[in-house]
Amino acid sequence: MNVCNNCGEYRVDKEIDPAGPYAICPLCGFKHEFRMLPLLMVGGACGVGKSTVYHHLLGTLDSAVPLDSDILWRPEFNQPEDNYRQFFEVWLRLSKNISQGGCPVVLFGSGLTVPENVEPCVERRYFSAVHYLALTCDDEVIVERLQARPAWRKCGDPEFIDVHVKFNRWFKEKASTLEPPVELLDTTGMSIEETSAQVAQWIDAKIGGKVA
Ligand SMILES: [Zn+2]
Repeated sequence: MNVCNNCGEYRVDKEIDPAGPYAICPLCGFKHEFRMLPLLMVGGACGVGKSTVYHHLLGTLDSAVPLDSDILWRPEFNQPEDNYRQFFEVWLRLSKNISQGGCPVVLFGSGLTVPENVEPCVERRYFSAVHYLALTCDDEVIVERLQARPAWRKCGDPEFIDVHVKFNRWFKEKASTLEPPVELLDTTGMSIEETSAQVAQWIDAKIGGKVA
């Protein structure tokens, strides 16, 4: 989609005309009609249950494409100084292209519900909205879950656990003040079925009537 159908040049920074919607080539003015769908992010600290919910929802959503953002992670994306920009640009580009098939994408992953990682991306413009849902839980649940993970994932390290306990608290304290605000779902004491049903409901509410 970033290659212009008229002049053949590659530009990510097309101008968006929501009336089409069109993505307009800044070089030749060609109007590329596209599907401008919402993008949904389900995030939260490591250990809050994102992956479990993701696996539970696989095959159950009729009108959205769920994907786990970890599948594209590579060491070269580990650039905290620019909020992991290249990683998020890749995911937005991929989601934009998948959306052209008519279904919005729901991404699951840890840093996805930090709007400041996503909103400044050049590819953000191709979505009608980005909706954010962070799963949270009590600190001790995170500690237990991370300690129980297999050693190769290196999640049992006290420093790693501390980072994610703090990240979890950060969502609880800041979610409503973020721009845009991040919605929260506290999964403490909820069964996986219950949590998945609530996440599925949230997805339905966000994409209802907006699917092409
Ligand atoms: Zn062009």
